[in-house]
Amino acid sequence: MRIGAHVDPAEPLAEAAARGADLVQFFLTDPQAWADPKDRPDAEALIASDVDVYIHAPYRINVASSNNRIRIPSRKLLFRHAAAAAKVGAKGLIVHGGHVEKAEGRDAGFDNWRKTFAFAAEEGGFATPILIENTAGGDNACARRFDALARLWDAIGEYEVGFCLDTCHAHAGGEDLLDIVDRVKAITGRIDLIHANNSRDGFDSGRDRHDNLTAGEIDPELIVSVIRSAGAPALVETPGGTEGQTADITYLRERLA
Ligand SMILES: [Zn+2]
Repeated sequence: MRIGAHVDPAEPLAEAAARGADLVQFFLTDPQAWADPKDRPDAEALIASDVDVYIHAPYRINVASSNNRIRIPSRKLLFRHAAAAAKVGAKGLIVHGGHVEKAEGRDAGFDNWRKTFAFAAEEGGFATPILIENTAGGDNACARRFDALARLWDAIGEYEVGFCLDTCHAHAGGEDLLDIVDRVKAITGRIDLIHANNSRDGFDSGRDRHDNLTAGEIDPELIVSVIRSAGAPALVETPGGTEGQTADITYLRERLA
């Protein structure tokens, strides 16, 4: 089972080595900015490395939005990040499911997701596999509650789309972790990556605050069993820097051994 961490983008391979990580995830730009990614000087080293690379798209991206001024730049930024992620040999580009501004606009939101993949298909498809991640908050999210996730997949299922399951987001978003792998796979048919995080907040709180695996509100054994039954690579997006994340990786390796 391959285990890793979300790390600072400056020197991801050094960060991986410091944690004994099999895979790393990082941002190519400031996640809060509308910025195009630049070529990375370590691209060849990242491609040549045994460490698997995942790229997380900026938080600003919301291709579901009914607002043209958000949706159009979001789509462009997603394309550009997929192209840049391919240049570092990324196995996936993780992007949040997004949301619509008003509940009645959700059908349009799912259709905006479909159009995103349809436009990409016209250009030969995304350069890197897109993994849509479930989110923790909001009433009009496309991938918080699984009734919405099912409708999203009805809209985009004809395209090759991956899924990233975040355990903190599921718990805080109000989806029970006990049988979650089966419930996800019944919708998406796949889980490509687990974001293995504990949550500082309660079930269905709608809050997105990650915690270390043996801290927080989720029974950590439940997180382990999600990874085991998904059979997918996992990475922690937990606090505490090298020390905190190394402890989380070690915890997972010991339990999954
Ligand atoms: Zn996550």
